[in-house]
Amino acid sequence: MTTFLALFTCASMSQSFYTGPIIDMHLHAYTDSNPMFGMTHPPTLRGETFNGVASPAEQRERTLSKLSEHNIVKAVVTNGELWKDNDSEAILIGKSSGTIEMLRRLHQEGNLQLISEMTPFYDGVLADDPSQLPYFELAQELDIPVGIHIFPGGPNYGFHIMPEMLGGMRTYNANPLQLEDVLVKFPSLRLYIMHGGWPYVDDVKALMYAHPNVYVGIGALWVLPQEEFNEYIKALSNAGFGNRIMFGTDQMVWPQTIDAAINMVNSAEFLSLEQKEDIFFDNAAEFLRLSEEETQLHKGL
Ligand SMILES: [Zn+2]
Repeated sequence: MTTFLALFTCASMSQSFYTGPIIDMHLHAYTDSNPMFGMTHPPTLRGETFNGVASPAEQRERTLSKLSEHNIVKAVVTNGELWKDNDSEAILIGKSSGTIEMLRRLHQEGNLQLISEMTPFYDGVLADDPSQLPYFELAQELDIPVGIHIFPGGPNYGFHIMPEMLGGMRTYNANPLQLEDVLVKFPSLRLYIMHGGWPYVDDVKALMYAHPNVYVGIGALWVLPQEEFNEYIKALSNAGFGNRIMFGTDQMVWPQTIDAAINMVNSAEFLSLEQKEDIFFDNAAEFLRLSEEETQLHKGL
């Protein structure tokens, strides 16, 4: 009986374990100057720690190997031009700094597919600040997606761990409603909130209700306890927004977080296999406007 039950449990779990192609909407490529190299991620709110890679070369090599290990067929990489030579098909380049002219030129040359990750938050600047509007305006004009960082991001307690890099972050600047005037000003934006907007679940629901062009990514939500992640995603799904939640890792210098992010979604037992497929692939494929042909190719259809 015990054996039968164990087999049954095992079978039902594997039925809801997604193994198809994945789109990662949130990765980073760094140069030598990034101070996070070699850093151990402090215990997350679920108690995990991750050892940091030592160099840009190791970051690239180990991240790309995780992409192939997990069948991640498309990845939005901020500063992805650093890795483009390695896997030009899979990598979509995001950039959010530099002049508007430079971004426009990069796009023309085929070296910019998204404006992301926008991080005015770390400088204490809100999304609707006049200094940020040209980036949204450009994204709308070029009809390319834009991704923006608000809470939570990682690591947890970042202000205290990396004050020189993250010292400008303030909780009072983290509310997703700062995007509303941007969405009103640029109603055709294809915008995603890169960390889901946790913990402002009601405000995210309100924003998604008012604006059908707002999607959320789940990058770095592996900092949260599993139950908290479940509750957050369940709340958005129950509200009818399950088709606008996109998988993302926010792998920085910790390649193991790619495993953690995938396990987090697969461990959310309330999600059906179909809902997991939406999060892992279908929602992002729609958001990025992948062709039917490419989608079928990735799915082996
Ligand atoms: Zn971020």
